[in-house]
Amino acid sequence: MDEERPLLRQAHVSHVLDTLHRPLRDLRISVTDRCNFRCVYCMPKEVFGRDYRFLPRRELLTFEEIERVAGVLVGLGVNKLRITGGEPLLRRDLEVLVERLARLGELDLTLTTNGALLASKARALADAGLTRVTVSLDSLDDEVFRSMNDVDFPVARVLSGIDAAAEAGLPVKVNMVVKRGLNDGSILEMARRFRGTGHVVRFIEFMDVGATNGWRLDDVVPAAEVVRTVGEEFPLEPVERAYRGEVAERYRYLDGEGEIGVIASVTQPFCGDCTRARLSADGKLYTCLFAVRGHDLRATLRSGADDAALEQAVRAVWERRADRYSERRTEETGELRKVEMSYIGG
Ligand code: SAM
Ligand code: SF4
Ligand code: SF4
Repeated sequence: MDEERPLLRQAHVSHVLDTLHRPLRDLRISVTDRCNFRCVYCMPKEVFGRDYRFLPRRELLTFEEIERVAGVLVGLGVNKLRITGGEPLLRRDLEVLVERLARLGELDLTLTTNGALLASKARALADAGLTRVTVSLDSLDDEVFRSMNDVDFPVARVLSGIDAAAEAGLPVKVNMVVKRGLNDGSILEMARRFRGTGHVVRFIEFMDVGATNGWRLDDVVPAAEVVRTVGEEFPLEPVERAYRGEVAERYRYLDGEGEIGVIASVTQPFCGDCTRARLSADGKLYTCLFAVRGHDLRATLRSGADDAALEQAVRAVWERRADRYSERRTEETGELRKVEMSYIGG
């Protein structure tokens, strides 16, 4: 590893605004489109079966290429990087990427994982400079969880991953996607379990990402209903938003036992403050989770472009950006051929 590389690119930040005056602050980096789960709302088995063609290795960005793109975006104002997928811990030596990204500056550097491989990886990731981790866990009821991940994976092993992350000193958030009739009965148990642990549970409305998860508005449990359900057992009060672009609405327990978050992307869209870009595993830059098309940065990278040319390409994409899909969502837009969440990264 080369120790000479200058730190703190933020010293040369040159901000960029889109057509709705939204800055670029947040980059989600998908490092693989593969996953060891088949969550029914994300990678249904009927679509992501044996014959599904995942990206071949040569099409994936290398760690070096990811670092270059991330560095350029940090130079344009990004201060938060999230590594995601597919399942990011399936990418070999992920801690090497974390180490490279951690050297780009004083960033919030985080990872979203299903937790299956976290117990063995948490220490290396923390040592490499990860600042925190988000673990997805849709139920504490083993039967419900196994049927949702659809590969019969037990809750206990995800909980061990969460414990390992906490022991390694990583702050933990727990993401639960709530789907009507499937795991809405697990909301309270989730709140009970993580109250007082320091881990924040975030309840996410089931979204119409991709084109394969059979989304229907009736399957969405509104965030307001989640807050009511938890609040009836444990009184809650809203917490002020910490920064522009924060997607979760936060509520704290009145008895001081911590807080929960809700992500109401369907019932209360937050496009007006959306400051995030997404980089797919094969190097396409997307400016909206619900985009139909991305901009091919891998071609730019592999044509030998320097950082200035790369920056110009990203700047041009962001300056044209006008996305606000969630504010315009209808049952019809739900049927567009959007990219899959497992490809673009959640
Ligand atoms: N495999 C990792 C995981 O599950 O944490 C990272 C990738 S996953 C696509 C990122 C997040 O997106 C997860 O928390 C997952 O629950 C969420 N997600 C996937 N499909 C979703 C959907 N249709 N609606 C809402 N959230 C979804
Ligand atoms: Fe895999 Fe995450 Fe999608 Fe589940 S939500 S199938 S763990 S990528
Ligand atoms: Fe951002 Fe697109 Fe989601 Fe709106 S719909 S909040 S623009 S990612």
